[in-house]
This record gives sequence, structure tokens and C-alpha cells, in this order.
Amino acid sequence: MLIRIAKTFKQALFPTRCLVCGSFFHFAQHKICDLKPRATDENSSNIAQEFIEKPVLTSAQGNYCSGNIPKVFEKSMTPFLCPNCTSGFLPVESPQCSRCGMMFKSRQGEDHVCGECLDSPKRFRIARSTGIYKYTLMAVIHCFKYKGKIQLARPLGTLLFTAFINFWDKMSIDLIVPVPLHIKKLRMRGFNPSFLLVKDWVRILELSSGRLPDIQVDINVLARKKWTEPQTGLGRKERLVNIKNAFNISDGSKITGKKILLVDDVYTTGATVNECAKVLLKGGAGHVDVLTLARSM
Ligand SMILES: [Zn+2]
Ligand SMILES: [Zn+2]
Repeated sequence: MLIRIAKTFKQALFPTRCLVCGSFFHFAQHKICDLKPRATDENSSNIAQEFIEKPVLTSAQGNYCSGNIPKVFEKSMTPFLCPNCTSGFLPVESPQCSRCGMMFKSRQGEDHVCGECLDSPKRFRIARSTGIYKYTLMAVIHCFKYKGKIQLARPLGTLLFTAFINFWDKMSIDLIVPVPLHIKKLRMRGFNPSFLLVKDWVRILELSSGRLPDIQVDINVLARKKWTEPQTGLGRKERLVNIKNAFNISDGSKITGKKILLVDDVYTTGATVNECAKVLLKGGAGHVDVLTLARSM
């Protein structure tokens, strides 16, 4: 109790600095919910409780909707972003490509397969993202990946988990695989952003169902054997060449027949996740789906 009063007092005296624009704000004044202290299990339990209370399957007429994703973004980012930056989140919405998730320019009509997926079919079944890689989401991902703000792993992981619950029937996935980094990159950065996003999911699912889920997270099944130049700034063809043969399977027995969800931070051309899907399917995976935080449009 005393700690909470002290925290409220501290927040009133010392405003929080927005991670995106650097302006100061009092997050207690515009907070939407009472985000409890950061004790890991308590927080996972809060997230789990929310999904028990509010089932969020939101597809209508075969179209995907962003559902509660913008609300979850707002709610989980409140301690880190000023109200103005929080409002700069753009969800991915239908009509979009039913395969790769690309949002069509026209805001009319139903989801259908895009020209690019028809011309060069992807190895994965479907790809979905929480939001468009622009404005706030882009800035937040930069803070997380390049400025080492790993405190963003929890709110971003919650956002991604919301998208997972929105878009997938849990039964259709039994293995979650974060896209791996090359060992050299991992040492330089100190963490794998994709793994940090999903590392609490099994515990959240366990807390929400009261039993150990059938889904596992495995960071070791896929390895990045080839050092690749950053894909940023490369065109579509160059990205394909750059990423070719970059991955291999470290333990094939773990993926035989598995329904895999590949997780990454940003989907740009899809070259990286498509290459991962190719290797996983060749190694015996049943099917591969893709979920990313952001989608470049
Ligand atoms: Zn701001
Ligand atoms: Zn497509």
C-alpha cells in the first residue's frame, strides 16, 4: 500500500518521458486500466484473466478484423508513450490478402489472394501482423530492437499474443518458433527480440486454461547458419538472394508433422519468413504460419 502511494506521489512529481517523442507526461492521468506491478506471474495472470473474461475471436464474413488489438496496444503502452504517440498506432485491417496479409489500398470489398501471392506462392500458409510498420509502432520496435529497451518486450508480447488469439484457433498450432538471429548478431545485441516476444506465452496459456498447453515455444529448432547483411535498404530480389540458404534445422525430430507458428518482429517482403518456412517444411513440418508485430505496406 505504502509502495503504491509512494509510486503515485513519484509519478505526480516526476512525469514519465515518452519513449517515442521524448515529451513528458503523467501516465497516471491518462491510464486506461490499472496496470499492476511487474511481478512476472502476477502480470501473466492479469493477461490470462483478460483472455478468459473476453474471448476475442473476431472474424466476420470471412474477413479478419483488428478486433481489440488497438485497445490492447493503447492499454499496454500507456506507461511508455504519451497519449499523442499512443494514438499513432495503425492496425492491419481488411480487406487484406488472405494469404500474406497485405492490406489492399481500396478499403472496400472482402479479403482475397493478392497478385504477388498468385504469381509466386509463399511457402507458409498465412501471415498476419498486429499493425502497420509506420509512426508509433515503427518507433517502438526501433526502441526495442536497437536501443535495448527490453522493458517493451512485455507490452509488445501481449499485443502479439492478442493477435495470435484473434487470428488462430489454438488447436491449429503446436510449436512456436521465433526467427533466429545469427550467433554473431545475438552476441552483439544480447537478446533475440522475437524470442522475448513469445517467451511468456506458454505460461499465459497455462494460467488461462488451468493446464499445461499443447503449445511449445522452441528457440533452438531453427538456426541461422549464414551471416547476412541487414535486409534494410535492399530491394525484393536482393533480399531473396541475401537470405537464401541462411537457415538450417538443428533438430529435425522436433518438427516432424508439427503445426508451426513462426514469429518475427517485422514483415517487409516476407523473404525471411518464407525462407524459414521452406526449411521447416523440407525438414518435415506439417504446416507453417507466420505472425509478426508489424507489416510494412
Ligand atoms: Zn510521445
Ligand atoms: Zn498476398
